[in-house]
Amino acid sequence: MTQTLTHFINGAGVEGTSGRFADVFHPAVGEVAAQVPLASLEEVNNAVEVAVKAQVGWAGLNAQRRARILGRFVDLAHENMDELATALSNEHGKTFDDAKGDVQRGLEVVEFCMGAPHLMKGEFSDQSGTGIDTYSMRQPLGVMAGISPFNFPAMIPLWQAGPALAAGNAFILKPSERDPSVPLMLADLFKQAGMPDGVFQVVNGDKAAVDALLDHPAVEGVGFVGSTPIAQSIYTTAAANGKRAQCFGGAKNHAIIMPDADLDQAADALIGAAFGAAGERCMALSVAVPVGKETADALVAKVFEKAKDLKVGPSLDPSSDFGPVVTAEAKARIEAAIEAGVKEGAELVLDGRGVKIDGHENGFYVGATIFDKATKDMSIYLDEIFGPVLTIVRADDFEEALALPSEHEYGNGVAIFTRDGDTAREFTRRVQVGMVGVNVPIPVPIAYYTFGGWKASGFGDLNQHGADAFKFVTKTKSVTSRWPSGIKEDASFVMPLQ
Ligand code: NAD
Repeated sequence: MTQTLTHFINGAGVEGTSGRFADVFHPAVGEVAAQVPLASLEEVNNAVEVAVKAQVGWAGLNAQRRARILGRFVDLAHENMDELATALSNEHGKTFDDAKGDVQRGLEVVEFCMGAPHLMKGEFSDQSGTGIDTYSMRQPLGVMAGISPFNFPAMIPLWQAGPALAAGNAFILKPSERDPSVPLMLADLFKQAGMPDGVFQVVNGDKAAVDALLDHPAVEGVGFVGSTPIAQSIYTTAAANGKRAQCFGGAKNHAIIMPDADLDQAADALIGAAFGAAGERCMALSVAVPVGKETADALVAKVFEKAKDLKVGPSLDPSSDFGPVVTAEAKARIEAAIEAGVKEGAELVLDGRGVKIDGHENGFYVGATIFDKATKDMSIYLDEIFGPVLTIVRADDFEEALALPSEHEYGNGVAIFTRDGDTAREFTRRVQVGMVGVNVPIPVPIAYYTFGGWKASGFGDLNQHGADAFKFVTKTKSVTSRWPSGIKEDASFVMPLQ
């Protein structure tokens, strides 16, 4: 028996009416777990109309009252953490603890957004001309939409929704059709927290739903996170339709390992960052660049020793280091990418293909895979594989290592491992990548800094979370004000005599 999921419109779960559904898998066992409805144009238009009406009252609340509702939501999400993480693990495939991290990193941004009363403050210039004051105020855009990827079904929707809601927008989420249950649970928790109906809605669907959101004139802003071709196409369409857009795409994150680095620390960091969540993180370290032959030989030996013992297994088995990938197609795509690397002549040090787990023979498992001596013209270096595959490209010196991430098509995250402050400083200043870690493998900035990649990893000029997010979800109104003088001089508190 598979479950049939719903949309969440106007404060309630609503059955799909398009007649179209997609299968949602349980990747650990390889079976269909649910059917998710794929919204029609009419269903999306209805959700937008509901949002337009609901937004007026929501924006009319003062920011502090909105923040209190967000605070109650955070508390409720913590109370329901185990249920959320279990559902997330079951549909995505990441381990239970990692799933809790997915929820937690989303909640941290909602907590930051509770500062909306401060973050929405405008500016004021007294006497900007004689008798004139100039001031600015931030106002919500109206209705905003978020289109999210499968790999963070709690975190990314909350990064998109938190600032939008806190600023007084209504928000429509179009989550990934591969793991839609957690977004629906979040919608229910928002309702329990006191969010008025229609302010946060979930419309499940595919390209048809996204196109309907992009075409609707009442949708004023769109946040997208997913693969680069779709990010670029959504950015272009949104701009052509006069909408504000921030669209984040794929990645190929490098770790530079200098000869003076603590190699044990770097190897440990690489294991977690390359293979955690089966490599299905936009900030996964998928390329290691050891500098110098000695460093490379030592690093490869250490990483191999640790990686060969990693346990890929069912998501909810506490002994699993990482779980399955999300779908059978993802597994086939990753295994094809490994085959391409072999054909291109990279040295396959560890091969994760063909993994079979007892009792879970149909699950979508790929084991840890390592390529050494890859070169920068190979597809395993150029393409985002989005699986547990670490590609090692050896560099002769610092300049060659710096050039690799700087010249790569993607520019999401990068890390350098060194004990030398001068090397680290030079690297962080010159590298052409949006988020940099110094001896930190996955440099996802905390909620009050912004998150966003450069080059093909991000389209639009404002990042997610941090202060940028409030600029993205609000429009600025500037007011120039003059009050004619004289009224107060004539004011009299004495009863006129005639
Ligand atoms: P995806 O691009 O396949 O899907 C993302 C969203 O777009 C989903 O909601 C999907 O339904 C929708 N979509 C798919 N095809 C569409 C189309 N033709 N038109 C309109 N909408 C469409 O991405 P995914 O596989 O779900 O997620 C993995 C990708 O996301 C990776 O490339 C990863 O690097 C990237 N990602 C980036 C970041 C970041 O911040 N840069 C964060 C997380 C994930």
